[in-house]
Amino acid sequence: MWLLYASPAKPVAVGSVAALPAEADAVCGIYLEGDVDHMGAMLCALRQQPAYAHLPVFVAAELAAHLQPLSDGIAGSVEEARARAGSWRPDPLSLQGSAPAPALALARYLFLRPQLSLSPVRDCRAHQVYRYPLLEAFANGEQPSSLLRKMKQRGWLEQTQLLDRLRCCDDCHSAHLNYIDVCPNCQSINIAAASFIHCFTCSHVAPQENFASGPHMVCPNCTTRLRHIGADYNRPLEQLHCHDCQSSFAEPLVIARCLSCGRPQAPEKLPVLPIAAWQLSDAGQEAARLGVASQPAAAVSSQDLAPAAFISMTDWMMNLARRHGQADFSLIGLRLDFPPGFSQQLGNKGLQALLEAFAARLQELMRDTDILSRLGQHLFWIALPQTPEEGARKMLNKILDFADNTEQEDGSRLIIHGVVHAARATPKEFDAEKLLKGLSRQLQGAIYADRTA
Ligand SMILES: [Zn+2]
Ligand SMILES: [Zn+2]
Ligand SMILES: [Zn+2]
Repeated sequence: MWLLYASPAKPVAVGSVAALPAEADAVCGIYLEGDVDHMGAMLCALRQQPAYAHLPVFVAAELAAHLQPLSDGIAGSVEEARARAGSWRPDPLSLQGSAPAPALALARYLFLRPQLSLSPVRDCRAHQVYRYPLLEAFANGEQPSSLLRKMKQRGWLEQTQLLDRLRCCDDCHSAHLNYIDVCPNCQSINIAAASFIHCFTCSHVAPQENFASGPHMVCPNCTTRLRHIGADYNRPLEQLHCHDCQSSFAEPLVIARCLSCGRPQAPEKLPVLPIAAWQLSDAGQEAARLGVASQPAAAVSSQDLAPAAFISMTDWMMNLARRHGQADFSLIGLRLDFPPGFSQQLGNKGLQALLEAFAARLQELMRDTDILSRLGQHLFWIALPQTPEEGARKMLNKILDFADNTEQEDGSRLIIHGVVHAARATPKEFDAEKLLKGLSRQLQGAIYADRTA
């Protein structure tokens, strides 16, 4: 049974997907109860309904591991579910309306649950042994692997943890492979270890059964009687013998046979598939929020320096400052944050215009020798050569003033987070990449702190 709850109204009981109201606007969340298998099936069905895919859903009992990412947790009652969803930030209802494509729907689902990652679960019945429950739930007829590829290609995902590395069939991509020893001559699997005799007279080597038995062994090649081991013959290191082509060898050939399609392949030629957990990147969060794969920040990127060039230039300035104590420089980091209400009010066109105005303001403030780079979707760095910290702070304050003029009718406004770093404050062992990463994390942290406040 589904209990659709909306505060402060009483929960409404619904029994099937077909009976769900077409519009989910009045629904704040859903509480599932009943049989565990039935709850699992309902949960999957629910996540495929565009109007309900992103709503908080709580379940009455613990579900199988592969279903857990589809729910928001266990609650003892509909009241508890309502209370827990109520304190959930960011407000899931800030992104109303349906998400048009599976990739975007999934990006939104993850965006609304910042603690959740796109993680695989191991399932030996699955074609590739690992399954991504969220990809399957949101694929909507698409292949889950192609949905993952699409999101990665768009730059919406970043890897959080590498969990495993699989070798797959080159043909059908199955990870169910059997590694088997075969004859290097005819590739038959009909091979076995055999005891061999080496005749000293003619150097013939063959399985022991070929040396006629009786009171004495006789070499089938030169007919010498082999009486004494060490004098007439010896036993070479244990060997393998193929019963199909009669060849003998010390090392078998190993082939990987696909258990799904049967194709034999050389193990060293199998494609390797990394299995990782993913989270939304800056671009993915932006796409989730704006609803389309737009890149409004492109407006600011026309006059900037590519990230790699910016990092190596910063390295060069850091080395210069270390070698000649007097050479000084500062860095300004900027991070733009668009609160959901603000983005909605402005729309895509409005955001584009805003970013163009922001770019123009930066250009006004920057001297000819200052250099701008965009290291993330809304993450900007300005390098200011020969500038002490106070100078950089003054410039940062002027940049922050820009946000004051962006207030919308509902009071929401652009938020700019800024950080200033002076060359002198750089720890000795840091290079530019490490420094910028650390500072960028500080800026990122500022956003999360604001959101959870
Ligand atoms: Zn053979
Ligand atoms: Zn012989
Ligand atoms: Zn195969």
